Amino acid sequence: MTRRARVLATLGPASDAPDVMEAVAAAGADGFRLNFSHGTHEQKAAEIAGIRALEEKLGRHFPIMGDLQGPTVRLGDFQPVQVSRGSRVTLARDGGSGIPVPSDEFFRLVEVGDEVTFEGGRIAARVVERSGGTVVVEALVEGTLAPRKTVAIRGKEYDLPSPTEKDMLDLKFIVEQGLEYVALSFVRSREDVRRLREALSELGSDAWVIAKVETIPGVENVDSVAEESDAVLVARGDLGAKFPLEDMPFIQTRIVDAARARGRPVIVATQLLDSMMENPIPTRSEVVDVFTAVRDGADAVLLTGETAAGRHPVESVEWASRIVARAEEGYAPRRMAMDGGTSIYDAFALGVVELAESMGAKIVAYSRSGNTARRIARHRPSVDTYVFTPDARTARKISLIWGVIPAGILGATDLEGLANEVVRRGLAKEGDRLVLVRGVQKDTTDMLRVKVL
Ligand code: PGA
Ligand code: MN
Repeated sequence: MTRRARVLATLGPASDAPDVMEAVAAAGADGFRLNFSHGTHEQKAAEIAGIRALEEKLGRHFPIMGDLQGPTVRLGDFQPVQVSRGSRVTLARDGGSGIPVPSDEFFRLVEVGDEVTFEGGRIAARVVERSGGTVVVEALVEGTLAPRKTVAIRGKEYDLPSPTEKDMLDLKFIVEQGLEYVALSFVRSREDVRRLREALSELGSDAWVIAKVETIPGVENVDSVAEESDAVLVARGDLGAKFPLEDMPFIQTRIVDAARARGRPVIVATQLLDSMMENPIPTRSEVVDVFTAVRDGADAVLLTGETAAGRHPVESVEWASRIVARAEEGYAPRRMAMDGGTSIYDAFALGVVELAESMGAKIVAYSRSGNTARRIARHRPSVDTYVFTPDARTARKISLIWGVIPAGILGATDLEGLANEVVRRGLAKEGDRLVLVRGVQKDTTDMLRVKVL
């Protein structure tokens, strides 16, 4: 049986050359993320073309996630500044002699005594003075402040509109390019997700929406956020800048469970193999971290800086893939109780999984929109689960989901035709038992047949 949890890689300057991209795929990447906080549409278009060309070459389908920057505050442009513990720097709304933080909202919220974190918490500083459009901070750790990095205030949340104007421009591009997934950063409530969905439907797109949970209200509202979304992402970088770091394991488990209880694929991201930004092998604790994400029940792990800007993008994917495979040995994921927005089709899918397991049968499904694949996968079948789709777009969508084996593209068919196709493609042999599944209508899962070959 192949690996069940997926490995996703963020593309960036370290990995978007065609030969590196191919090596990353060969090392085990199941899909790619494009980070719209960085780079131009022109660069993104080239990356997308590269991935599609790779699909042709390898005969595979790769989901692409367009990751919107969302409502955040970033440093402006300036020459990088080294800080050491205790050194003071000035942050200024209008730049001038200070480091530019071009945000009214930041200066509305910030107070003396606050802890300001930069670059997803990599650097922390304490506010010691403030006056109108400037604040003076004292660094709590040493490091380098670099342009365009995120600025957060621990324990506080910006009240900015989402999606932002930039997000809307990026979204239009993402839809034009036909990406399968759109990730929304800094989701605070189901309303943020709903607004993105409305924008997508106005643009005529059926892309699946991934809620990136990385704000304090986002964690508080995680149940309704998961319910509103198609998938959920545990964005540990920014979470770690908002919550006490020692709370991270609890928050990760909480988000994973909330998503799984609602049948939403869940992705664990950021700093999984952070030391591999520099080194060709991970630390022991990083190996345990990737293992833990799998054992927590994640559908996928997402490498961020490691593949986008690290020195060893290919080795990072190799290691992630190896650790995931090892974590799955002798491991049967928990089957979660169904919660929030569960339909009769989800219950039907549970029956399908239990039936197939009790018969030692393979599950063979036909999924038009990807929903049937998602409904079956949420119950974490221990048997092989093959899913045929009518087109490449759905094949890409389901390639991000735990345990789903994309079986190929197939025109509309009945269950008998599905059985024939499995045999024709050499996925099952005489004597095998099959549980064949599909929905009678779009977005349903309500038809089943058992067949012994
Ligand atoms: P980012 O999201 O890379 O867009 O910041 C991931 C994270 O915050 O963990
Ligand atoms: Mn983030």
